[in-house]
Amino acid sequence: MEKLIEVKNLTMSYERMEVLKNVSFSLEQGEWLSIVGENGSGKTTLLKGIAGLLGLKEGSIDFGCGVTRKTVGYLPQQTAVQRDFPACVHEVVLSGCTGGRKLFGMYSRADKKKAHDAIHELGIQEIHHRPYCDLSGGQQQRVLLARALCATQKLLLLDEPVTGLDPLVSSEMYESIHALNKNRGVAVIMVSHDIAGAVKYSDKILHIGSSVEFFGTTEEYLKSELGRRFAGK
Ligand code: ADP
Repeated sequence: MEKLIEVKNLTMSYERMEVLKNVSFSLEQGEWLSIVGENGSGKTTLLKGIAGLLGLKEGSIDFGCGVTRKTVGYLPQQTAVQRDFPACVHEVVLSGCTGGRKLFGMYSRADKKKAHDAIHELGIQEIHHRPYCDLSGGQQQRVLLARALCATQKLLLLDEPVTGLDPLVSSEMYESIHALNKNRGVAVIMVSHDIAGAVKYSDKILHIGSSVEFFGTTEEYLKSELGRRFAGK
């Protein structure tokens, strides 16, 4: 079967500091991969490499199944600046339509439909006129998920999607991602500190430290010594 994404012998660095070394893994269509590991191990760097926001030092990232770098949806880690973003929900979601920008910064009818559909799919139609900065953390993450969805049919990259959310809101967020994954067949690559959520929802786990410490199915991970230690089972 053709892979959705294949990462081979990837090394990334900031100036002279190597962050990731010799990372390899692959994913099939519709799978959910969680990337876990200690702080500073390079999880966010890896996700940015896949999103095409950072260059690679060595190795390769290849997409298949009709995916290109432009048709990947990316939900970045939230920063204080983003939380204060002065735009309404609808505009934030629409700004995810990266592929189809038209002349003079206008969005096409197809882009508007994508944003409309994503807003409905994530159940945020009642807040679509509200300023983004007035929303709760959970609502903001849902808006950013809708935004990421505008860019893709096949692959979502999610950086810490539930960090800072309370348990109830986190589980609602996971259920929304789960529904996109199962109903629409959108593959997910999620960086997370929430190991319980990662093992509950993922098909595969990539655990990185100074290099890849584990890559395989969630079931295998939970049987491994590393998985038992990290997931506390
Ligand atoms: P993780 O997501 O696993 O916590 P990151 O990918 O954020 O790890 O960071 C990996 C390492 O790279 C850390 O040591 C971090 O300090 C460093 N780093 C991250 N971003 C930059 C940057 N823009 N410039 C220089 N070093 C960075």
